[in-house]
Amino acid sequence: MLTANGRRTWAEIDGEAIAHNVARLCSHLEPGAKLMAVVKADGYGHGAVPVARTALGAGAAWLGVALAEEGARLRRAGIEAPILVLGGSNREQMAIAAAADLAVTVFDPDHLEAAREVGQVHGRPLRVHLKVDTGMGRIGVIAEQVDERWAECLAGPGVDFEGLFTHFSASDEPDPEPTRRQLGRFLDLIERFRRWGRLPREVHAANSAAVLRFPGTHFTLVRAGIAVYGLPPYPGAPELEPAMRWRSEVLWVKTVPAGFRVGYGGTYETPAPMQLAAVPVGYADGYRRAWGNRAAVAIRGRLYPVVGRVSMDQITVAVPLEDPVRTGDPVDLMGGSGPSAERLADLADTITYEVVTGISNRVLRRYAGN
Ligand SMILES: *Cc1c(COP(=O)(O)O)cnc(C)c1O
Repeated sequence: MLTANGRRTWAEIDGEAIAHNVARLCSHLEPGAKLMAVVKADGYGHGAVPVARTALGAGAAWLGVALAEEGARLRRAGIEAPILVLGGSNREQMAIAAAADLAVTVFDPDHLEAAREVGQVHGRPLRVHLKVDTGMGRIGVIAEQVDERWAECLAGPGVDFEGLFTHFSASDEPDPEPTRRQLGRFLDLIERFRRWGRLPREVHAANSAAVLRFPGTHFTLVRAGIAVYGLPPYPGAPELEPAMRWRSEVLWVKTVPAGFRVGYGGTYETPAPMQLAAVPVGYADGYRRAWGNRAAVAIRGRLYPVVGRVSMDQITVAVPLEDPVRTGDPVDLMGGSGPSAERLADLADTITYEVVTGISNRVLRRYAGN
């Protein structure tokens, strides 16, 4: 398979797997809850536009992005579903959001003022969601500090107070207590907004792990990212299908004697005569250095070790003399017959999120099926 840049390394995205995962997530929702498919960071490296289309077709009602520009891109592709910018937006980004009809997140009175001004200039109120920190310790007003003045400001001109939300810090971890504590604080806050007569139309808290593990957190909307892509949000999560298969082809093969050193620093030495297969992928593609001398790849469906250091553009794979291997043989770097994203994440002491979003745009994404 020759990719656009002439290089034989690409990622296949299975639209049917995305649709399957979205349908599964929808089947877990409590009555009255809708699904927001989170497609920030180019759909976790899978391609935001095709993933968004598939997810909406499979039952998602909303889309979530991190940046206003990401949302504007979806609009330019003709996507009309409601979109929330989950990250903080400055005034310029709010102007982009207003022009593209995106809802924005606010958690600071200055943001709210900026949103109001942008909405007034635009002649249409900017939809805002108030982000509340119930224990994540990141962006968000501290829940206990949200008072009636906040509620009144949110009801003022130039903005449409559409949503109230929080984010869990540990819904993927075995101990449910931190999530229960966060939920308790959020429920108190919802009660206060109700008392003030200012509860917005959308209330949301759950990420992928909470969708599956904490049904009490679904409210009107859930925000699922990683599970849409079929990557389990916690070990043992129910049946999801990984949507990405990262592929390549053998570039060149040579036979070497025992005692032959491989790669920068010569960190691998062949214990016996063998074949070395070069595969055109390296850390500039997001194939991490940590995988050198640790990971395996599948060539023609069989696993072989990646030996020596990972270079910027290449890796070397050790193949026994008796196994047939030649230029052009198919390679699975991740998925297919190759290692899973979880396995590769473990080997690099990281999480699947970082593995898939780290695959660089040198790697062509091919979206198949719907
Ligand atoms: C990224 C993100 C999500 C999605 O989290 P997953 O663990 O991928 O489901 C949900 N909410 C917010 C605020 C996010 O930034």
